[in-house]
Amino acid sequence: MRRTPEALADALNSLDARQLRRRRHSVPAGAIDFCSNDYLGLRTHPMVRSALIDAANHGAVGAGASHLVSGHDPEHDSLERALADFTGRERAIVFSTGYMANLGVITALAERDDLILQDRLNHASLIDAALLARTREFKRYPHNDAEAAASALRQFRSEHPKAGAVIATDGVFSMDGDIAPVAALAELAQAESAWLVVDDAHGLGVVGTEGRGVCEQQHLDQKAVPVLIGTFGKAFGTFGAFVAGESALIDWLIQSARTYIYTTALPPPIAAATRCALQLVERERWRREKLHELIRLFRNGAERRGIELMPSMTAIQPVICGSSAAALQASAYLRKQGFHVAAIRPPTVPEGSARLRITLNAHHQVDDVERLLAAVEGAISQTSLQERST
Ligand SMILES: *Cc1c(COP(=O)(O)O)cnc(C)c1O
Repeated sequence: MRRTPEALADALNSLDARQLRRRRHSVPAGAIDFCSNDYLGLRTHPMVRSALIDAANHGAVGAGASHLVSGHDPEHDSLERALADFTGRERAIVFSTGYMANLGVITALAERDDLILQDRLNHASLIDAALLARTREFKRYPHNDAEAAASALRQFRSEHPKAGAVIATDGVFSMDGDIAPVAALAELAQAESAWLVVDDAHGLGVVGTEGRGVCEQQHLDQKAVPVLIGTFGKAFGTFGAFVAGESALIDWLIQSARTYIYTTALPPPIAAATRCALQLVERERWRREKLHELIRLFRNGAERRGIELMPSMTAIQPVICGSSAAALQASAYLRKQGFHVAAIRPPTVPEGSARLRITLNAHHQVDDVERLLAAVEGAISQTSLQERST
């Protein structure tokens, strides 16, 4: 149907009727936020704030242009060097958002004849990147099934022996919190000379003793994971993203990643604040340690109360509700108890798996987590009563 204004209104009403209408959220005053991605609590760190303000006062707010015109600032260089060091890669390049990094990287690496292979639960930006790349084949393998990825790749190679391939996966899955079998995918990529792209938006700062993400956890260097992507809007508490890898890769992105070339550079004060946040990720280890304490506490408490969780050892601890209505009810119940947890519904997650995407962070207190668990238990018993009566 044509999208006339009337058709849009009808479509919106239909979303309402199916409890799928999306709304924007801020945290209600006085409520505790249990769904942000600010896993280490760096978003409000006094030093991160000062770094931003100082850079704005001594330089400028906006970059003024794209990187290739005049917008490339020494702050970007400093941040890129720090990121290369942190990730153990030769070089890094800063993008304006993670969404744009993913679009830019995949379209810069994949050629028309190639195969793009992705985990079924990858972030929307990786999926969109593959659609934009318009390669001969785009296959999505069952979640975390490296075997399925291997057979799809081998099948493709037997039909198109000369064509290239790009495998892409989230490091930590954003709606489930589980970790990709990156080591197995790395082995496959090396054996088949495919690119491996790992988007570790939710792993960096959180996973690994030093917070270096799934590559640290699975001992994967630049050779194993040649394209590592991270975002600053999660554990770093700022905004933006980066790609790390060998020098030729970074130079190639500067030549050909359209979401890098045709956009205004990240504001230099954001780069300065991010470099400060990165230092805190490294130095204030207590933040990561406390987060993992809270994760343990949450999981143990949930088990005691019979709350079913997913196999996640990260800050993302979803509670599946099933229908969109049940997830919305549970979220409303928690809000009344003083907790903000957004209901995540299809199409962001598969049909029938609407959920409370609970996330923990280093600013939560033990008592907050205990009270949240009690409230979740209440929400579940209330919504299951209502489901039964309807
Ligand atoms: C948040 C996220 C992105 C997008 O990053 P932005 O900087 O917010 O655009 C990309 N990939 C994953 C896995 C994410 O969680």
